[in-house]
Amino acid sequence: MTERMWAPWRMQYVTGGVKKSGGCFFCEAFKDAGNEREHLLLKRGELAFIMMNRFPYNVGHLMIAPARHIGNFEEVRPDEAAEMWQLVAAAKMAMQKTMRPDGFNIGINQGKCAGAGVLDHLHIHLVPRWNGDTNFMPVFGECRVMSQWLEDNYDQLKTGF
Ligand SMILES: [Zn+2]
Repeated sequence: MTERMWAPWRMQYVTGGVKKSGGCFFCEAFKDAGNEREHLLLKRGELAFIMMNRFPYNVGHLMIAPARHIGNFEEVRPDEAAEMWQLVAAAKMAMQKTMRPDGFNIGINQGKCAGAGVLDHLHIHLVPRWNGDTNFMPVFGECRVMSQWLEDNYDQLKTGF
């Protein structure tokens, strides 16, 4: 139970069955300009971008990734790190405006045992938290419902940027 406090994104994300359509969905999202909503890509920078997690642990779960397909923390260049940091801040502020969380978890999972669901494309998780939200995520029985809900959440967050 305490594990959830420092790596709340772990469970859904690892077991969520991220679609493996051959390519990397981070790279696909970044390159597919014009289809941001479909990819749940909220903000495109030059070297990094913000997108929603399709298998969120909590409402509003966002990910900030470098445009470059790199898997390790130490591979991030200073200019990429700077932009990722700015995007984390922008995402946090957008969320504060639109969803008014009481707190946040911000973190990176490196390695499967650490909870990483996608190993080869690094990403920073930004998970909003609300007081007493330990039971927050409703169980979604149907993908369609989930998808609708994600798009609504996308539109809501988009207004914060
Ligand atoms: Zn990639």
